[in-house]
Amino acid sequence: DVRLEGLSKSFGSNQVLKSLDLTFPERRFVTLLGPSGCGKTTLLRMIAGLEKATEGAIWFGGRRVDHLSPGERNIAMVFQSYALYPTMDVAANIGYGLKVRGMAKPERAEKVGIVAKVLEIAHLLARKPKALSGGQRQRVALGRAMVRKPDIFLMDEPLSNLDAKLRTTMRGELRRFHLDLQTTSIYVTHDQLEAMTMSDLVAVMDAGVVQQFGTPEEVYDRPANLFVAGFIGSPP
Ligand code: ATP
Repeated sequence: DVRLEGLSKSFGSNQVLKSLDLTFPERRFVTLLGPSGCGKTTLLRMIAGLEKATEGAIWFGGRRVDHLSPGERNIAMVFQSYALYPTMDVAANIGYGLKVRGMAKPERAEKVGIVAKVLEIAHLLARKPKALSGGQRQRVALGRAMVRKPDIFLMDEPLSNLDAKLRTTMRGELRRFHLDLQTTSIYVTHDQLEAMTMSDLVAVMDAGVVQQFGTPEEVYDRPANLFVAGFIGSPP
């Protein structure tokens, strides 16, 4: 599991996360849902090791990870911007994480091939990112994460740049990847529908605080307070 203990973060005098205590259970798909600026991305970056806590601790399955760099955490992160390497082709983009770990070329090519097939981008392996559509780029970004078999899969609004139709398709695919990979997945969105349809558990956040943590049914049927009711769109 991923456990947050009294986790706080301030940027100068701006406290963006306020002593969070939260456990993301093993192999569940958990969504951080909340309005813009509530601290979702900051929290995800802290779990990834890209941002340091002001106070508190982060544990992965009983192991404290605060002092570990992103590379030491066995996580994979997919960003809204995809962050592909523009000069590398698709195969090199997907295989990059394996290369830096020292995996030999033939083995790398095999692993990249398997992932590309699953994602239906095997015919695009020689292309550069600029010659891909938004949806194809998104799949490359997912492929790069999948190939490394992370314990924890972090996604920051990965579908927000896609058109509505593709977004719907990709929601189902992401759920499938999550199940295939058997990871603990943590997904950031401000889209209620996305959270409700994809998640095992939803953490509804507002201004650096988790207002409710429960299943989609729980937060919809029994909102903890007026904020949750208003944000999810159901009466308290
Ligand atoms: P969005 O959905 O718009 O991305 P969010 O819920 O992910 O919003 P964060 O990006 O985590 O919110 O930002 C939370 C607060 O922290 C905001 O007030 C933001 O301005 C502030 N913040 C984030 N990163 C930094 C930084 N590096 N330096 C200073 N302030 C920051």
